[in-house]
Amino acid sequence: MSRSAHPAGPRHADVLPEGHYSAPPTDLNALDPKVWAQTVTRDAHGVVTVGGIDVKTLAERFGTPAYFIDEADFRTRARAWRTAFGPDADVFYAGKAFLSRAVVRWLYEEGLNLDVCSGGELSTALAGGMPADRIAFHGNNKSVEEITKAVEAGVGRIVLDSFQEIVRVAHIASSMGKRQRVQIRVTVGVEAHTHEFIATAHEDQKFGIPLADGQAAEAVRRALQLDGLELIGIHSHIGSQIFDMSGFEVAAHRVVGLLRDIRDEHGVELPEIDLGGGLGIAYTSDDDPREPHEIAKALTEIVSRECEGARLRTPRISVEPGRAIVGPTAFTLYEVGTIKPLQGLRTYVSVDGGMSDNIRTALYDAEYSVCLASRTSDAEPMLVRIVGKHCESGDIVVRDAFLPADLAPGDLIAVPATGAYCRSMASNYNHALRPPVVAVADGDARVIVRRETEDDLLRLDVG
Ligand SMILES: *Cc1c(COP(=O)(O)O)cnc(C)c1O
Repeated sequence: MSRSAHPAGPRHADVLPEGHYSAPPTDLNALDPKVWAQTVTRDAHGVVTVGGIDVKTLAERFGTPAYFIDEADFRTRARAWRTAFGPDADVFYAGKAFLSRAVVRWLYEEGLNLDVCSGGELSTALAGGMPADRIAFHGNNKSVEEITKAVEAGVGRIVLDSFQEIVRVAHIASSMGKRQRVQIRVTVGVEAHTHEFIATAHEDQKFGIPLADGQAAEAVRRALQLDGLELIGIHSHIGSQIFDMSGFEVAAHRVVGLLRDIRDEHGVELPEIDLGGGLGIAYTSDDDPREPHEIAKALTEIVSRECEGARLRTPRISVEPGRAIVGPTAFTLYEVGTIKPLQGLRTYVSVDGGMSDNIRTALYDAEYSVCLASRTSDAEPMLVRIVGKHCESGDIVVRDAFLPADLAPGDLIAVPATGAYCRSMASNYNHALRPPVVAVADGDARVIVRRETEDDLLRLDVG
């Protein structure tokens, strides 16, 4: 496995560049707006606040660890994507990044569509009030039950991921007397992460049907013949935490090439093209993500140019941002427990959560930043590693960061940009209780996903 191909990008590999952390930030109390949600600031006492409520109050009311999501920021980002792409395109929020009924309602109200990839996500989407025709159903191994439920509900599209699934979905839809709108997910031989992409002839991965060797063209041939399916377009998703648009350029070129071949062979111009998600966010001050309007402009131009070249009508574009919408909108609040200085190395700061609420550092060597949130400090910076309380030495939340040297047990620290793939990937390892998600807006805080209790754990253990 190539370490550089993990979703956090090559900068996040095992060995940090020499001297990467040699210089502490000039102001340890500063909150870089790049990594913090829009309403996060410090109040007159130096306490971090979000949506007008300070973290000491939030910790008292909701406990720690907990995720706090800035509702205004979520809505602003969702709306920015919607507006950037305009009425001739669709924005599908990728539910796997973080999904709850409250989030579904925000998306609905802001005019976004929703991607789901399991029966559980589909149920949450429907329970949250998303109209079925605005839902897309993904996955490389959807069960017959999941497909049946999706067709029955009337989802707007199912993204077909294999030859078996073409037949399976067609059969299920036909047996219900329905014609299901579908896209075919193709692998275009591009893998993009952060600042680079790799173009290969063959994609060695579980998702999609390869363009190579005419496989995708054969999938299209079969889908067009089946009464239960209405083929509306081609889907491609090339990676995650991407900052550079050149991977999308290659992907669009290859997908449009397939659309042209389809027109030439079957005389049909498929009306839609989905370019997937994967747009990057700032986890630390070193990251420079693009704004939605820049991304929309770049993608729209790329597709138009390619279609012009192939003399095709420009299809309706859809995109599927997950992380880029929800990632920056939340932070995790922890209480400092023990502090262990290791002479000449670093100081280990243990918090009351860990890999059970943020697995990304252990899983992808992802980088995060951290700040002292319950007060400011003028103390000297010390190099710290923020670790959890699990029985595992890889239980790291923030690998390397600077915090003030007077940090003490009971202080609250906050890790920003934990809105995506943290609560949604949370586990019960060591029988940890998964933290709540609290939405904060205009001086008001409410739990949208409650904290797990020991009763919840014991309810599953039937003895
Ligand atoms: C994961 C995924 C996304 C969202 O990825 P982000 O990095 O969160 O933007 C979009 N589409 C598909 C098919 C995915 O699997």
